[in-house]
Amino acid sequence: PSISGPLPLVDDMVLVSVEVCLNPSSVARPEDVRIAIERMLEKRCLSFTDGPVPIPLDDSFLMENVKRIHICGTDELVSNHGVLLFWQVRPVVHVYQLCEDGVGEEISGDEMLSSFNEWVLPAKEYDGLWESLIYETGLKQRLLRYAASALLFTEKGVDPCLVSWNRIILLHGPPGTGKTSLCKALAQKLSIRCKSRYSSCQLVEVNAHSLFSKWFSESGKLVAKLFQKIQEMVEEDNLVFVLIDEVESLAAARQAALSGSEPSDAIRVVNALLTQMDRLKSSPNVIILTTSNITAAIDIAFVDRADIKAYVGPPTLQARFEILRSCLEELLRTGILIYPKEQDSFTLPSFSTLKERLHHCELQESEGQLCLLKQLIEAAEVSEGLSGRALRKLPFLAHAALSNPNYCDLCKFLNTLIETARRELLESH
Ligand code: ADP
Repeated sequence: PSISGPLPLVDDMVLVSVEVCLNPSSVARPEDVRIAIERMLEKRCLSFTDGPVPIPLDDSFLMENVKRIHICGTDELVSNHGVLLFWQVRPVVHVYQLCEDGVGEEISGDEMLSSFNEWVLPAKEYDGLWESLIYETGLKQRLLRYAASALLFTEKGVDPCLVSWNRIILLHGPPGTGKTSLCKALAQKLSIRCKSRYSSCQLVEVNAHSLFSKWFSESGKLVAKLFQKIQEMVEEDNLVFVLIDEVESLAAARQAALSGSEPSDAIRVVNALLTQMDRLKSSPNVIILTTSNITAAIDIAFVDRADIKAYVGPPTLQARFEILRSCLEELLRTGILIYPKEQDSFTLPSFSTLKERLHHCELQESEGQLCLLKQLIEAAEVSEGLSGRALRKLPFLAHAALSNPNYCDLCKFLNTLIETARRELLESH
């Protein structure tokens, strides 16, 4: 029921996900932790907002086993100043432990051509990735709901001849807008939310471009081998995510074959890939995630197969502000940046909080703090045209441009950040 409508209401209660990450060393049964967390939440009698929840110091069981408790997804549900009161909420607790094995890489053939990477989810590498990606348009929630609905239909055994749906997602848009990261973060998120239903969860990353090496004759074999491996994973009651990056290279390969500049092997490889994908589609526990940097050039056969096609655009002003704010917070946390001498430390407010406060003339910031926030807004404004990827690099470049990098207060840093953004934009044109 949590995924069927715009507002997941059950008996007028809002279902809210509470994600509980176990310590790497914990050997507690997830079930016991879940019960302890539910008890803790019952006692809380507080409101629910998105974000971390402190572990109660007097609960030794939780203190020993739990690394982090995080409430997610209330933001878009509430109008009450972003707060849900405890009696409006039915928490759904997901307990998980991060896998620290890292990437398993498949090296195929004599050519040492890396054809795919494999992760067991939820993976340590992708911890926090979902939260770090900032889009304004509810894109993340839409994707999450879509994928969750697809899995629910499958789980309930809905007959695909009567209601048709498939499990292919295509994200397209300019490079550096976070498409690949979003696919991985989505897989990670779903692996946490669906953990209890599957014995394990895997992500297989295929680079479409690498399948079309100059050895087309090898590519066919590569595709077959790859999908055979995926098929084996699927048969074992795992939840499997297959990420195919840069699918535009399929179209390019086919085009090249048609124009006669490449061997017709290319067509065979593209067709083999599409056939294999169709075969996988019948397995209920697979979600295929694909990305493309060029919308126009995606193979039409491919576009037709995707159920959800979402455009991922360059970051808006609000998203740019939030990306830069999160960068600054990290540099303040690590002590690379400090607050100006004459100022106390303060939490940089989010864009929406700031806007609301300005609107209601309820500013809590001092004049000096306001000045910093104005600089941050200016930095977000001047960086229009930079991708999310470029924005996340900007603070590093600004730091490297400082005359005295050992002592850097926020005010000076923001000035340099603005200059760096201007320079980056000039150089990118
Ligand atoms: P793409 O696949 O679209 O080329 P990537 O997934 O490789 O983009 O993005 C690279 C990095 O850029 C991400 O890991 C993230 O750090 C940053 N990034 C891109 N877009 C955003 C965004 N909207 N919010 C936050 N970070 C972003």
